Amino acid sequence: MARDPRYDVLFEPVKIGPITAPNRFYQTPQCNGMGRNYPTSMAIMRGVKAEGGWGVVFAEQCDFHFTTDNARNVRLWDEQDLPILQRMTDEVHKHGSLAGLMLAHNGYVTPNLISREVPLSPSGGASFGNFPSHTRPLDKSDIRALLRWQRTAALNARKAGYDIVNIYAAHDLALPMHFISRRHNTRNDEYGGSLENRTRLLRELVEVTRDAIGDTCAVGIRFSVDELIGRDGISCEGEGREVVEMLADLPDIWDVNVSSWKNDSITSRFGEEGSQEAYVAFMKSVTTKPVVGVGRFTSPDTMASQIKRGILDMIGAARPSIADPFLPKKIEEGRPEDIRECIGCNICVTNNYLMAPIRCTQNPTMGEEWRKGWHPERIPTKDTEDRVLIVGGGPAGLEAARALGQRGHEVMLAEARTELGGRVSLESRLPGLGAWARVRDHRLQQLQNMTNVEQFLDSMLSADHVAETGATLVALATGSHWRRDGIGRHFLKPIPISSDANVLTPDDIMAGVAVSGHVVLYDDDHFYMASVIAEKLLKAGCTVTLVTPAATFAGFSQFTIEIAHIHKRLFGLGAKLEAHSAVVSIRDGSVEIGSIYADLKREIACDAVVLVSGQIPNDGLYHELIAADTGQRIVRIGDCLAPATIASAVYSGHKFARDLGLSDVDRVPFLREDVALAPLGGPHEASQGRVFPPIVAAGGE
Ligand code: ADP
Ligand code: SF4
Repeated sequence: MARDPRYDVLFEPVKIGPITAPNRFYQTPQCNGMGRNYPTSMAIMRGVKAEGGWGVVFAEQCDFHFTTDNARNVRLWDEQDLPILQRMTDEVHKHGSLAGLMLAHNGYVTPNLISREVPLSPSGGASFGNFPSHTRPLDKSDIRALLRWQRTAALNARKAGYDIVNIYAAHDLALPMHFISRRHNTRNDEYGGSLENRTRLLRELVEVTRDAIGDTCAVGIRFSVDELIGRDGISCEGEGREVVEMLADLPDIWDVNVSSWKNDSITSRFGEEGSQEAYVAFMKSVTTKPVVGVGRFTSPDTMASQIKRGILDMIGAARPSIADPFLPKKIEEGRPEDIRECIGCNICVTNNYLMAPIRCTQNPTMGEEWRKGWHPERIPTKDTEDRVLIVGGGPAGLEAARALGQRGHEVMLAEARTELGGRVSLESRLPGLGAWARVRDHRLQQLQNMTNVEQFLDSMLSADHVAETGATLVALATGSHWRRDGIGRHFLKPIPISSDANVLTPDDIMAGVAVSGHVVLYDDDHFYMASVIAEKLLKAGCTVTLVTPAATFAGFSQFTIEIAHIHKRLFGLGAKLEAHSAVVSIRDGSVEIGSIYADLKREIACDAVVLVSGQIPNDGLYHELIAADTGQRIVRIGDCLAPATIASAVYSGHKFARDLGLSDVDRVPFLREDVALAPLGGPHEASQGRVFPPIVAAGGE
C-alpha cells in the first residue's frame, strides 16, 4: 500500500554535519542488558532496527575510559573493544542506516566495580546511591587527560565505523552534566562558578571530538534541558536553555530530553506520549542544527505534527523501537495500523538493571533475534498439520493464536468471557494502566485479517468440550488467580483468617467488589499490583495502610524506574506504610501485624484487607484432560503454567507458536556467546607479578 502523504515529512533525509540520515527516525541510545556481555545479540538486534527502517541507530551509552565502568554497556577503553562495536556498525550499515555511538563518562554515578578506579566528579563528595565510597575531584591534569581520552575514543569510534559520535551530558548520569550542575560543581577555577565556566568541559569535549573526526563524522550532544527539580536544577527556562544558547551551533545535532532517566523514560502510568514537548520546544529557536527529542512516540500523526510544528527535526525513540523495530517501515508501507505500540510499562528497563538481556512486553522477539533466530515480523510457515485449540484469550492465548495464525495453522481460540484480553483487559482498567490494553488491541487487530483463526467468545470449555473440538494440539492459556490465604514470598503457610473477616484479592477489586473505609493492603508481591490497587482505593475515598515484609513498598518497581513516582503519588494521596511487617492474622474488623525481625505485634482496626501475595495457576482443566487421556497433545502456557508478568505470558504464547510445545529439554535452546579464553602463561606468571612494563615518572630515568 502507498504511504499516507501526511507522513511524507517523516521520510525526508536530514543533513547532520558531514553526513545525511536517510529519514527522520532516530533510535536514541538504548540500554539493553546485552552490550559487551552479549555482543552479537546486541549487534543483530540493532541490525533488525535498521532493517525496520530506523535511519539512525545508536548503541547504548559507551564507556570511553576505564575510569567509567558501567559493567553492562558497550565500552571503548581502547582498540581491544573495537570488534564488538564494529559488529554493530556492520549490521546497521547493511540496511543503509547510520550508526551512532554516544561516548559516556558517568563520573560519580559509577562505582567502578570492575576497574576499581576511584570515581571522578567535579568537586568530590559521596558516590551515587548507597555505595560506601567517595569520589575524587578532577584536577587540571585530569581534565587534560579526559579530553585526550575523548579524542582517542572518537578516533576509535570512527575506526569502528560509526557515523555519529555524541557526547553524553544528560540524565544526571554524565560527568559533563555534573560539571554544568550547580549542585555537583562547587569549583572555583575556570571549570566552576559561572555557567560559562561550568559548561567549559562540555564545550571542550565537543571541540576535541570535532577536531579528531568532525570532517567525516557528525558530532552531537545528548543533553537534558530540564531536571524537573525547580531552582536547584538545570531547567528549560533557566540554565538548560542558556547552555543550549551558549553552544547553539557548535554540535552538528542536539539530542535533548528531561532528566533523570525515570522522567525521560517515564512509564505510561505517569506520563503521556509526547510529554516532553513543553521542555524542548524552545530548541529550534536557539539552534539551526537538527534537534532530536523523545516522548514514547508511537503515533505517526504525533510524529509528523512534531516535525511540522517545528518542535523536532528527528523523531527519537528507544522504547517504541523496542516494541516495534519495524515501526518506520509500517508507516512507509502505508500500514500504520500494524504498529505494535509500546505500552510504556518499562519491562525493557528491568533487565538492564538485572544484567540480563532485554525483554519487552509487546515484542517477545526482542533480545532473541540472534540467539534464537526470532525475527519480529517473520516466522517460519507451519511444518505440521496440527489443528490447534487455544483455551483462554489473555496475552498468552492471544499471542499464541496470532503467531500460529501467521504460521498458517488452523486455530480455534475459545474464551470464557465475552471479551478477549484476559488479565490485560482487567488490569488496563486500573488507574494509569490504560495503555496496557494495546497488548490485546494489537493482537486483535492482527487476528482480524486471519481467516484461519476462529474466535469463540462466551465459551467456557470443559474437558468434554475440548475433546469434541477435534483439535490435535491444545494450549491451555487459562491464566491464574490471586491467593486468598496470604501465602506468597514471606509466608509459606496460610495466615489464620476468621470466617467473618472481609478479605479481598486483586481479582475481587478488578471484578468491581465495593470497598470503603479503612483498608489494610498487604503487599507480598512487590511489583505494581498493590500500588495500583492502593491508588484506586485512595482515589475512591478509602484510607489505606500498606503493609509489606520488604524494606520498601512495590520494591521491584525500582527496576522499571517507577518507584519514586509510585511513592510520591501514594504518599501524596495519604497512604501510610508499615514496612518490615507481615499480616499475621485477620479477624472481622481488624488485622494483627507483626515485625518480621522482632517479636512485636499490634492490632490495626480496618474495614477490609486486600491480600496481594501469591498467585495460583488455573490448571484444573489441564489435569482433567491429562487424566481423561483424550489422545490430544495438551500444553500449558502463560500464567496457567506459572503466573508471572504479562511480558512472560506473551513470550510463552509466542514460544509455543514456534515450537508447538515440543522443546527438547536435553538441548540448550539458544546460541550462547562465551568469552574467548585468554592464553595462559604470560607476564602474570613472571617475576614480581608484573603484567605491564613499569611506568616511568616524567623526568625520571
Ligand atoms: P495469561 O496471562 O496466561 O494469558 P489470563 O489470565 O490473562 O492468562 O487469561 C486467561 C483467560 O482464560 C481469561 O480470559 C479466562 O476467562 C480464560 N479462561 C479460563 N478458563 C477457561 C476455560 N475453561 N475456557 C475458556 N476460557 C477460559
Ligand atoms: Fe514499551 Fe514495555 Fe516494550 Fe518497554 S517493555 S518497549 S515499555 S512495551
